[in-house]
Amino acid sequence: MSRPINFIPFYKPHLGREEEEAVLKVMRSGWLTTGKVAARFEEEFASFVGVKHALAVNSATSGLHLGLESLGVKSNSLVITSPYTFASTAEVIRYMGADPLFIDIEEDTYNLSPHALERALRVKGKYVSAVIPVHIAGLPCKMEAIMAISEEYGIPVIEDSAHAFPVKMGKRMAGTFAELGIYSFYATKPITTGEGGMVVTNREDLSCRIRVMRLHGIDRDVWDRYTDPSADWYYQVVEAGYKYNLSDLAASIGLAQLKKAKNFLSMRRNIVKNYIKGLSGLDFLKLPKADLNGHAWHLFIVKLVETKLTINRNEFVAKLKEEGIGVSVHYIPLHIMPYYRKRYGYREEDFPVSLRNFKVSFSLPVYPGLTGEQVDRIIATVKQIGSRFYR
Ligand SMILES: *Cc1c(COP(=O)(O)O)cnc(C)c1O
Repeated sequence: MSRPINFIPFYKPHLGREEEEAVLKVMRSGWLTTGKVAARFEEEFASFVGVKHALAVNSATSGLHLGLESLGVKSNSLVITSPYTFASTAEVIRYMGADPLFIDIEEDTYNLSPHALERALRVKGKYVSAVIPVHIAGLPCKMEAIMAISEEYGIPVIEDSAHAFPVKMGKRMAGTFAELGIYSFYATKPITTGEGGMVVTNREDLSCRIRVMRLHGIDRDVWDRYTDPSADWYYQVVEAGYKYNLSDLAASIGLAQLKKAKNFLSMRRNIVKNYIKGLSGLDFLKLPKADLNGHAWHLFIVKLVETKLTINRNEFVAKLKEEGIGVSVHYIPLHIMPYYRKRYGYREEDFPVSLRNFKVSFSLPVYPGLTGEQVDRIIATVKQIGSRFYR
């Protein structure tokens, strides 16, 4: 099926002259891989979110892996997260030889439920080596409760903040509440470097470990007595590390995007304001319940009230596509994915809130380049499909 000419894509990155010039400058400099530009990106990112250490990596997935590794997560231990997330959050647990212990989400936020966390820790606490809450869509999890419960059991927390940039909860940025926070710069995320990510922490020990492990386990501060430590060719391999560094080419795009991050957020907020104005009060559609300013609005996830309609979510999404509007579904819960179903024997109904939310949710476009006219057309089309198939 071909797309109409005026198709509104679900997502488009917002890049301009600043990014183009930054990339050209790095290209012409003769130094393409990790160097001064990546270091500056880290410094500016750390000060932007308000942490001591920021470590640039080639993806948020790499960052999550390094985070678990730095915490010393043991094979055969359990790492708690929710099934309502992207594949990355759980696969990194398997990289460590550990097993995900899924717990269900809260119905209205899609975020890991602190009550479910408390129950899980009460029963399995001694086998659990970390907790990974995910700030779904850009709405921060209840971090104070999550941190209090985890601290009671002495279990470290990593925030999957891939969607939550930039957003404050009180005085602190999402991603900076826990031992570690991870941001994504994948092409569709709030800011992008094409592919990339950032790990943030206030802990010196974790920062040192991640710095070494993200680049082949090489430590330039270790030397032995046979070699001249002032030689610039000198290094020591102290671990079997990974190849997870971010290039200067990518970092240069990140620096330009970081300067625009607040502006991007206010543009997304404007779109959301219009969605709320145009779509509230419809009894076949539930809008996200969140404070406009307490959300990064990476995604705008709405829910269908299926009892009010003669078509289901899949059909509604297909109708929107027919009308030239790109929408998406976030997320197919991991516990119903073949790998996790087979390995852990999960049944669909094991996480009823995740399953129910998945079945009725879809995401409308929300990105800086989306025009007011396009937003109006999306609103009108949603309303029109809703009334055409109203029960
Ligand atoms: C995109 C995403 C990731 C992974 O990000 P990459 O940079 O692509 O590795 C992790 N968690 C969530 C929730 C995501 O949406």
